[in-house]
Amino acid sequence: MGIDTEALARLREHVHGTVYVRGDEGLAAEVACFNPAIRHDPDVVVAVESEEDVAEAVRFAREHDLPVRVQATGHGEEAPTVGGLIVSTRALDSIVVDAPAHLVRLGAGVRWAPVIERTAEHGLAPVAGSSTSVGAVGYTLGGGLGPLARTHGFTADWVRGFRVVTAHGEIVSADPSSHPHLFWALRGGKGGLGVVTEMTLELVPLTTLYAGSVFFEGDAIEPAFRAWVDWAAGLGEEATTSVVLLRVPDVDGPPPPLRGRTVLSVRFAYPGDSATGERLFAPIREAAAVFIDAVAEIPTTAVASIHNDPEQGSPSWIRGFMLDDFDAADGDALLDVAGPRVESPFLALEIRQLGGAAHRDTADGTAVGGRDSGYTLSAIAADPATFDSAAPAATEAISRALQHRISAVTNANWATDLTDPTTFESAWPAVMHARLTDVRASYDPDRVFAFGPS
Ligand SMILES: Cc1cc2nc3c(=O)[nH]c(=O)nc-3n(C[C@H](O)[C@H](O)[C@H](O)COP(=O)(O)OP(=O)(O)OC[C@H]3O[C@@H](n4cnc5c(N)ncnc54)[C@H](O)[C@@H]3O)c2cc1C
Repeated sequence: MGIDTEALARLREHVHGTVYVRGDEGLAAEVACFNPAIRHDPDVVVAVESEEDVAEAVRFAREHDLPVRVQATGHGEEAPTVGGLIVSTRALDSIVVDAPAHLVRLGAGVRWAPVIERTAEHGLAPVAGSSTSVGAVGYTLGGGLGPLARTHGFTADWVRGFRVVTAHGEIVSADPSSHPHLFWALRGGKGGLGVVTEMTLELVPLTTLYAGSVFFEGDAIEPAFRAWVDWAAGLGEEATTSVVLLRVPDVDGPPPPLRGRTVLSVRFAYPGDSATGERLFAPIREAAAVFIDAVAEIPTTAVASIHNDPEQGSPSWIRGFMLDDFDAADGDALLDVAGPRVESPFLALEIRQLGGAAHRDTADGTAVGGRDSGYTLSAIAADPATFDSAAPAATEAISRALQHRISAVTNANWATDLTDPTTFESAWPAVMHARLTDVRASYDPDRVFAFGPS
């Protein structure tokens, strides 16, 4: 679209950050996505350096009818953006720790890794996600379900306040006493509400975990998986666990012992003493011959080693579900359609156990979907040749096998394509969905922010 060059010049004059228009060098790098198969083509990108820059960008977009999207790290992008204006928050990288109050105030562009490093200096930790290269704000806006989910709940439960630029370009604080409905909605409602510039998060006193992952291969995979299903069902809420079947490609990147192998990784996180953690985890070590044992006492700064998510993105196709429950018969059904003896397009097939603190909402309530589910299930394919048919067909086979378990409600971070009306509808329970619709309508009546189905 043609944008008035004088108006663009005024925008450039008013913001401290960089304004890119289609065709400008640097635009593609500014809004590069974790999944390199996704390449945005917006009309304008404003790489903001302050919340005033965000307000200017939103006012400009409003005046010129450009739908606004927000991007920090690009980890959450599922589809290319064509047209409109992207507010890129990468330069909002402040981290201020208030150790006595157990709080951290962080800018919208901050990834988990530096937050974990900085807070660890004070014996504190954020309730972070599995990958420390994910953006803290984008992750938390969808709820945020990490390796401590059963002991510490969703990350959104720990938010104490946000600074937000609204659709009118106003800068407001959203917390329990100021804009409480907006505060509620931002804790899980994900988008269509404003641009968060800053988030204040309560930290937990934690320096070490008994945590990590053990790997099984070959004939040990199926007995270890079956043992995990039974063991997880009886595990108390003092620990969090997940399991992933990995078909590791024989390429540079993955750790050499795993390259070219199919392995089962059982992850475990116990935020307590090693002796108790070891006792709780013993049934998994005894389930079958262990290929690699990397569960031990670790500092909180090593939390990313529990899931070993890739640091570098590659083209990927992802579908996420939530399951009400998952028992031995479901485990057998899953092995039949996607286990190690079956040809499968999936690089990773992951199940995380929920329950415990993840099940309980905060006293003042949040907009987190999926609390009532027992498990998550994610299927990730990495070979583009499978994206059009083999991966969707294999996912369909899994859905059929586990149809009776698939939850009616998912979660905004798991419901991969939120532009699909059915997926969007199911990302929150109906009552929560209706309240979110009201809050979005009151803060963004003209739909300045592009979010959900168009
Ligand atoms: C490797 C990997 C591991 C993951 N692990 C987990 C996990 O353990 N648990 C979990 O819950 N999720 C997980 N996710 C999903 C992840 O939390 C979401 O994709 C999240 O949206 C990423 O946020 P981001 O800012 O990094 O990404 P971006 O792509 O930059 O942002 C994603 C979306 O977040 C919103 N957003 C971001 N910043 C702002 C802002 N300042 N104001 C308003 N809206 C904003 C926008 O809607 C944007 O489209 C993972 C994703 C990946 C790729």
